Amino acid sequence: MKFFKKKDSENYLAKLEMLICTMKDTGFLTDDNVESAIRNTPRHLFVPDSQKSEAYENAPVPIMSGQTISQPSVVARMTEWLDLKEGHKVLEIGSGSGWQSAILSNLVGTGKIFTIERHSKLAEFAKKNLEKLGIKNVKIIHGDGNLGISDESPFDRILITAACKKVPERLLDQLVMDGLLLAPVGENIQSLVLLKKTSNGIVELKNQKGYVFVPFV
Ligand code: SAH
Repeated sequence: MKFFKKKDSENYLAKLEMLICTMKDTGFLTDDNVESAIRNTPRHLFVPDSQKSEAYENAPVPIMSGQTISQPSVVARMTEWLDLKEGHKVLEIGSGSGWQSAILSNLVGTGKIFTIERHSKLAEFAKKNLEKLGIKNVKIIHGDGNLGISDESPFDRILITAACKKVPERLLDQLVMDGLLLAPVGENIQSLVLLKKTSNGIVELKNQKGYVFVPFV
């Protein structure tokens, strides 16, 4: 709560409460741990100055390089589906503002988040945003997410935050046995697809239509 001042002209805390209510009422936020991770990760510190008044709208917000910070309710749902545990090692593709990475970092405790961003400006932006919160267990890498990070694999969880035509095989290879991978898959409108690596191969656990993300390149 130290990032919310009692009297701020934008009234961020009141707007955050409204946003939390909306996400709960619509069924996108159901898990108490995910709720506290969102509360601990003030979104106004992750949007550019020109967009601050929109920080607690339940909508994507433009950041830079033509990209967006994802819609809060979608971030809440993705985070819940990932079923994160203390100590997990997570790979995120698409750091953007770093907001999702910070939420993940809150939920893995002593674990670690590796996040890859293709735009150098955004990788820098995310890094600065995470520093504001004193987050130490997130490593931001400027590079091509298609490759994953084989030296750090296997990962307990892999999250892609941009729309893929197809889940990259190479990323599935970097998943631990019984690990989960979550990605929006599709062209104009995507489905959120949750996959699990099992001894019998890759199994689809969830598939929900109706999401729109910026493209995975
Ligand atoms: N998780 C972010 C939202 C990111 S939007 C947040 O919380 O703010 C998706 C991001 O994926 C964009 O920043 C885009 O530049 C990045 N991206 C798209 N294709 C990529 C690729 N192949 N490798 C790394 N990053 C990629």
